[in-house]
Amino acid sequence: MAKFDYDLITIGAGSGGVRASRLSAGYGGRVAAVEESRVGGTCVMRGCVPKKLLVYGAHYADHFEDAAGFGWTVGDVSHDWGALVAAKDKELDRLEQVYHRMFKDSGVSLLEGHGVLSDPHTVDVAGKSYTADKILVGVGGWPFVPDIPGREHTITSNEALDLKELPGHILIVGGGYIALEFAGIFKALGSKVDVLVRTGTILRGFDHDVCGTVSEELEKKGIAIHRDCAVRSIEKRDDGKFSVMVDHGEEMIVDQVMYATGRNPNTKGIGLEEAGVAMNDKGAVVVDEWNRSNVENIFAVGDVTDRVNLTPVALNEGRVFAETFFNNNPMTLDYTNIASAVFTQPTVGTVGMTEEQARKDHTVKIYVSRFKAMKHTLSGRDERIMMKIIVDKESDKVLGCHMVGDDSPEVIQGLAVALKCGATKAQFDATIGIHPTAAEEFVTMRDAVPDSADV
Ligand code: NDP
Repeated sequence: MAKFDYDLITIGAGSGGVRASRLSAGYGGRVAAVEESRVGGTCVMRGCVPKKLLVYGAHYADHFEDAAGFGWTVGDVSHDWGALVAAKDKELDRLEQVYHRMFKDSGVSLLEGHGVLSDPHTVDVAGKSYTADKILVGVGGWPFVPDIPGREHTITSNEALDLKELPGHILIVGGGYIALEFAGIFKALGSKVDVLVRTGTILRGFDHDVCGTVSEELEKKGIAIHRDCAVRSIEKRDDGKFSVMVDHGEEMIVDQVMYATGRNPNTKGIGLEEAGVAMNDKGAVVVDEWNRSNVENIFAVGDVTDRVNLTPVALNEGRVFAETFFNNNPMTLDYTNIASAVFTQPTVGTVGMTEEQARKDHTVKIYVSRFKAMKHTLSGRDERIMMKIIVDKESDKVLGCHMVGDDSPEVIQGLAVALKCGATKAQFDATIGIHPTAAEEFVTMRDAVPDSADV
């Protein structure tokens, strides 16, 4: 008789939990996954996937405008927000079924309901108790909205994806990934968009040339960015609109107020404290390189650990967990040179160090190129691509690549391989470009920013 009902119970069937569960079951483990909402988690149900579908929808606004320069007469165009949301929902339903099927095919039992640890080996779900040798926590994060008067009138990305109507005017608080991606979606589909950031910069932590270029391009599109600004209070008016008082005393009247001010780990109410699991001051499960918490049989992967909060990172944390503990193939994840993207319009792609990070420990040579994409010579759109390479002067190693412009995530994904291999600038230079593309600029930048090594 086995000592436990399962070898592994995963709490949370998001990206990290699903990957770990499926692979562990594939390696012969007896696995159950607990999920109280929809299988697929944040990325598939409330994040990357539905967001990207809306971004695709938003791009048509520019495409219709640009078409005239190529001889097209497009005529009057209009957009049906409800139709886009319905199409997106249909795709999410399909994906949910795919996830259910994947669980079934790989032999993972789905336990539907809210999972609570009643001791380090027992999870209570919907009135029943299940035991496991190992517990993996993959419950992700949830939007954080600061405690301001009128907080109850705000929406987050969760609700923004399902709005019944496109807001005529939306105020978005925050200047990170989510704020700017949704600013682009709403603006392109016809809303008036104001973005409010508490400091002087958007995308804090990104390379300064990325922040500057994105700011310029978003402002060119008519998105108003209010810097060094904070919301004092929000009141609902009789006409259904919201009155927002901001720092400098002025009032904004808007149809929606969306907060995109970061996300917190979802660790409350699942019995972690009671089981003795250590968490940091943000409530994230503290784990070691093996994804193990301070409680020997309890592990965590993904956003709940607040390391690098990106889907592919969670997937790979789930993978190395399964390899290590269910395939006798100990593996840890290398967190260097993880590429990421912001699906603004234009998009951002980035891998490796920012100039600011690189300058701390390296003497650097900086290569920057700004140019108009060939397409816009005919479309007439006033949009610039920015590409930047950061090179260690001593070793010639490329430390970082950054791009703002159409398809930059697609371009940067390839360069991420080069950085992972430790590519040098000489090797970039020895690479023959593909013509005519924007990407070829990454292998043809010859002149460093003058004196960039002497700053
Ligand atoms: P971010 O951490 O990216 O940005 C949060 C923003 O909110 C920052 O501008 C921050 O300002 C501001 N902020 C934080 N607290 C307050 C406050 N109390 N009042 C006013 N402003 C505040 O978080 P997001 O919510 O945009 O996204 C969460 C995470 O989700 C990201 O870190 C990312 O890991 C992931 N994500 C990834 C995506 C992708 O890969 N494309 C897309 C969407 C999300 P300041 O700069 O001053 O701190």
